[in-house]
Amino acid sequence: MPAGDMLRNTLLLQIEAGADEAIAEAPIDRFALRPPPAAPAPPRPASPQHASPPAAPARPIAPARPAPPPARVTRPASFAALVTAETALGAARAAAVAAPTLAELRAAVEAFEGCALKETATHTVFADGAEGASAMFIGEAPGADEDRIGKPFVGVSGQLLDRMIGTIGLSRSLNAYITNILFWRPPGNREPSSEEIALCLPFVMRHIELVRPKVLVFLGGPSAKTLLGRAEGITRLRGKWQEFRTQGMLERGEPPIAAMAMFHPAYLLRTPGAKREAWRDLMAIRARLAEAGVLG
Ligand code: URA
Repeated sequence: MPAGDMLRNTLLLQIEAGADEAIAEAPIDRFALRPPPAAPAPPRPASPQHASPPAAPARPIAPARPAPPPARVTRPASFAALVTAETALGAARAAAVAAPTLAELRAAVEAFEGCALKETATHTVFADGAEGASAMFIGEAPGADEDRIGKPFVGVSGQLLDRMIGTIGLSRSLNAYITNILFWRPPGNREPSSEEIALCLPFVMRHIELVRPKVLVFLGGPSAKTLLGRAEGITRLRGKWQEFRTQGMLERGEPPIAAMAMFHPAYLLRTPGAKREAWRDLMAIRARLAEAGVLG
């Protein structure tokens, strides 16, 4: 078993046994620590008749050692966070694989409490489009409009996306399915953390398995990098066909899905010069769908 797994299992075992905090990195030899000096006894009220003889001078008290540093370190918070993230990831995986239909997957995502983004979001933004669609588009995260309405790509970049896919005969109502790698809006549209992405990923993978499109399109760098497991930027990743398979598809011996990354519509709004490449990618997607016999 790899050392990392052993360490994880050991930690999980300790948690099951009730240990819920890391105390320190190194053991502390408490026998080596001296007890603190006894506080001087309060003076007895003296009566003039029965005055005790003055006490013999006490043995000099050893000067107090400097107090040992506090045993508790600042790690418990991050340790607890790590354990919580591990537990949440396990819960996400279990809920995702247990969903046999899109409706049940949607319900599982809506019920999932493991991703902190949900706390600040107004809506869970699951998906929009036709079940059994031949093309599935996956963006990054809901923005303010999507969070308010509860559907992906409904703002200005969504309107551009609708126009783009419309040029190749696709629409949400007929044959396109649209979602994101995150189901909740990051506050203020900040960049999502890798942990937030990882927590949504089991649901995204199951989402792809259940839609099972002919063509998968990753919109923008975060979606492409996450789902292709690659480090290059979108400029390098876009426009090339890739074979996409989830772990579950691999285990069941299912064939891969043709996948392509392209520029995100929000980027195209900011960089109209990039529309030429986007157009090329759309043409390649149309040709692929035509080859598969789903577009004329
Ligand atoms: N950008 C995305 O990546 N997804 C949306 O749903 C909206 C904007």
